[in-house]
Amino acid sequence: MLNAVFCYDSQLLTRQSSNILNMPTQIDLHSHSTISDGLLTPVDLVKHAAEKGVRVLALTDHDDLSGLAEAEQAANEHGIKLIKGVEISVTWRKRTIHVVGLNVDPSYPPLAEGLSLIREGRHHRAKGIAAALEKAGVEGSLEGAYRHASEGIISRTHFARYLIEKGYAKDTKAVFKRYLVKGKPGYFEHQWAELSEAVSWITGSGGAAVLAHPGRYDFGRTNMLLLLEEFRNLGGAAIEVVTGSHTPDQYGEYAKYAKQFDLASSLGSDYHGPGHTYIEMGKLPDLPTGCVPVWRDWPEAQLLEH
Ligand code: AMP
Ligand code: MN
Ligand code: MN
Ligand code: MN
Repeated sequence: MLNAVFCYDSQLLTRQSSNILNMPTQIDLHSHSTISDGLLTPVDLVKHAAEKGVRVLALTDHDDLSGLAEAEQAANEHGIKLIKGVEISVTWRKRTIHVVGLNVDPSYPPLAEGLSLIREGRHHRAKGIAAALEKAGVEGSLEGAYRHASEGIISRTHFARYLIEKGYAKDTKAVFKRYLVKGKPGYFEHQWAELSEAVSWITGSGGAAVLAHPGRYDFGRTNMLLLLEEFRNLGGAAIEVVTGSHTPDQYGEYAKYAKQFDLASSLGSDYHGPGHTYIEMGKLPDLPTGCVPVWRDWPEAQLLEH
């Protein structure tokens, strides 16, 4: 019944002009570079975005701000605007969720220090993953994963690349399913930042906190309502309504949630590189009409055609 209501609503929420005219979406507020688990360097990522018609791009590497300076310089060279972002790993009620920060100040000490602690935790977790994989018969994964993570954080994606290289699975999707998710041999329980910490680091630095890809959290409607309420009460600004990992029905569903909780809406591809992405840059539809864009009052909004 609820699904039926959402479907009905998502049909009512018509798309705005750029999608109807098939123009590229000119804003993309979620992307990754080699500083986290993307395949393009910050400079190449910006170039790619510019080539795909994106005019306002947020680089949102996992738990790391170190690509932002070079990305901003590249954006200036390509005549596009770089939004300084980050995607923070959070543990909420024993589940991992992601909070994107937009327009953050990388020099804000609580943000920089908080992320530094998360990165230290990632090294500890990597050892745990490698030990667990070793028990399952996979050797050399710690060194192998770090080899794929030369520039920045260590993540499960780097373990996935090592496992694929060694022939344990054919692609990223299969390797996560078989080895790296809860209940599988290479999963290692880890405590990330608190939701309240992530939101306060972002908002304290002058940024907007955005709940990333809510449709990917498989914990039921009751928990989703609790999360949205808590996130909003902590000072969260927006949720990702249009993201590469949402279905068109989920655009409508989360547009409704945004409205219900008086939250703005965000849009981003979650691009990880050629062939490693849900959707190419510049291909996402605009937000459903009725959504308040998180960028509405930003000066960069002037750069976007309507
Ligand atoms: P980590 O933060 O180290 O746990 O790694 C999380 C990253 O792994 C996400 O940002 C995705 O890029 C990737 N990832 C997570 N789950 C999957 C999956 N099922 N298939 C492919 N990539 C995934
Ligand atoms: Mn990722
Ligand atoms: Mn994420
Ligand atoms: Mn992401």
